[in-house]
Amino acid sequence: MNKNDLIDDVDDVYALYQEVIIDHSQHPRHCHCMTDASHQADGYNPLCGDNITLYLTVKDNCITDASFQGQGCAISTASASLLTECIIGKTTDEALSLFERFHRVVTDKQQTDDTAQLGKLMILAGVKAYPARVKCATLAWHTLQAALTRATQPATTE
Ligand code: ZN
Repeated sequence: MNKNDLIDDVDDVYALYQEVIIDHSQHPRHCHCMTDASHQADGYNPLCGDNITLYLTVKDNCITDASFQGQGCAISTASASLLTECIIGKTTDEALSLFERFHRVVTDKQQTDDTAQLGKLMILAGVKAYPARVKCATLAWHTLQAALTRATQPATTE
């Protein structure tokens, strides 16, 4: 079977998405501590036991660098890895509105116009069929929101 046959099949698109999730969970991008971070927050998903610490370098309202450390399931690790890739180079406002759009897509039953703007984050949209996994997929984003708004309490998905 060639690659084009695979892409024509919706189920196999999700299989490809899963490959990306597995790749990001096994080889997470930007997975390291940042000692000179300007923003930092911890996140915890008690339902699954996922823990992450997110580090940001923000200059003139622009996120110039992002990294994370943590322990969690494949979905939470892949989501944090994809998050760091997506937010570097964005303004803090753009990152927060991306969080809102991403959150709507993974929690709403309805399809929205937002999907077109999410790019590779759509890879994680498949989790909306599994409510428990939504918290794994959104943990890094809740933590991002906490870091950017300088919340003093650790972020939680509860
Ligand atoms: Zn998890």
